[in-house]
Amino acid sequence: MEDLVQKIIALDKISTALEPSISKREKYQQQIEKFANQFINSLSNTHTYQKGNVLNNDFEITAQQKSLTEILTIYSEQVAKKGINCASGGHLGYIPGGGIYTAALADFLAAITNEYAGMYFASPGAVTMENEVINWMKSIFKFPESAVGNLTSGGSIANLIALTAARDQHEIKNEKITTSVVYLSPHVHHCTQKAFKIIGLEDVIIRYLALDGNFKIIPQQLEQQIIKDKKQGLNPFLVIASAGTTDTGAIDPLDSIGEITKKHRIWYHIDAAYGGFFILTKCKQALFKGIEKADSLVIDPHKGLFLPYGLGAVLVKEKKAVFHSHYYQANYMQDAIDENLPLNPADVSPELTKHFRALRMWLPLQLHGIKPFIAALDEKLLLVSYFREKLNKLGFLLGPLPDLSVSYFWYPSSQLNIDENEFNKQLIKFIHEDGTIFLSSTIINEKFVIRIAVLSFRTKKETIDKAVEMIKRGLKTTKLLFN
Ligand SMILES: *Cc1c(COP(=O)(O)O)cnc(C)c1O
Repeated sequence: MEDLVQKIIALDKISTALEPSISKREKYQQQIEKFANQFINSLSNTHTYQKGNVLNNDFEITAQQKSLTEILTIYSEQVAKKGINCASGGHLGYIPGGGIYTAALADFLAAITNEYAGMYFASPGAVTMENEVINWMKSIFKFPESAVGNLTSGGSIANLIALTAARDQHEIKNEKITTSVVYLSPHVHHCTQKAFKIIGLEDVIIRYLALDGNFKIIPQQLEQQIIKDKKQGLNPFLVIASAGTTDTGAIDPLDSIGEITKKHRIWYHIDAAYGGFFILTKCKQALFKGIEKADSLVIDPHKGLFLPYGLGAVLVKEKKAVFHSHYYQANYMQDAIDENLPLNPADVSPELTKHFRALRMWLPLQLHGIKPFIAALDEKLLLVSYFREKLNKLGFLLGPLPDLSVSYFWYPSSQLNIDENEFNKQLIKFIHEDGTIFLSSTIINEKFVIRIAVLSFRTKKETIDKAVEMIKRGLKTTKLLFN
């Protein structure tokens, strides 16, 4: 017994390092705070993109401890300074994120108190907050109170949960898979195709729909295809529309598609991961008409609400459909299961233990109010218009007027007898090497184009001016290249 106690005491002397003293905690906090403030203060005059590899050795975990100072140096040099600086307003590629400061503070709190946000029994407060955040989104998108939802790690997992519910509601399994039909825009996000493979629907029939000149689904064509497929004895069960595609930010005609899916009793899924929160702006509200007709909806607060990465959301009207795959009872969970308690996040998600995501959304919304978020969204829309005008003056050709804050452009170099695709490829190469501002490229109608996506709360008029200056430099250099 005495021996046992001695051993415990000896181990305690070592393991106690995991609970730093108050003075050490304060010192660590000061160091982190200093780093964070310097990082934020330097954002407006550092590059957005820096190519280059990292040194693995710096990350190696060895028996040798490091000081927080050393660790922060590695973090700064090898992590924060490499690749795309996603906290920067100069990130205008792909779909930018955000990373508002007060969400980081909320994450700190969530980690310190380590709330168990999977089950109401374990943390009724945390779970109630999760459910309230979901209720708030239900009200924004006019989903009924009876709908369920979940805060996920991002849009991909949110889509996965929604498509699983569609599959289960329509009992798409066994031999039914190969005769069941899904209708998609070719511009749908690739996490959709990934999800089909993951949930065993690799062999469903996928109908890629023809799009109009603004890259939107044509409802009449959708309905014709559904009728044709039904006549052939196939089983149309799912239509996916987008409220903000990744390539061009297009919003499909949500209302008309909703009419068709209702008439033909097909599950209606809308991916609004990028565009969803623009419904809060007065000027774009009308484009979202009919979004409430969806059976399931995905929205990404780590995009449209400028939160740090790691927060998507899914809303589903049919609770039963989600429960089919996600609600489980196990003996070791018996204390936590009570039908009368509020919804457990674990019952509508593949996750059991999970990050307490609600706080990073709830705290900033409470602290700042909703107004600054809406103003930032309106600001992004105007910044894209501003950018388009500037580029037009430089002689670029522009894609159609965008629904939201994604647009594309290319330089019509055939006027100079230079292949347009080659020219614009060289131009984006220049832009990436320059790195002041980060833009990305895509292929639209077999044409190589450069894309701008404005969604960071830190993107301001000065950022756009910098981007235009960079593109001017690029234009000059690229022209010389082909001379
Ligand atoms: C970003 C995005 C996704 C994927 O979401 P993640 O959060 O990156 O997993 C899905 N659909 C659309 C339309 C998106 O913009």
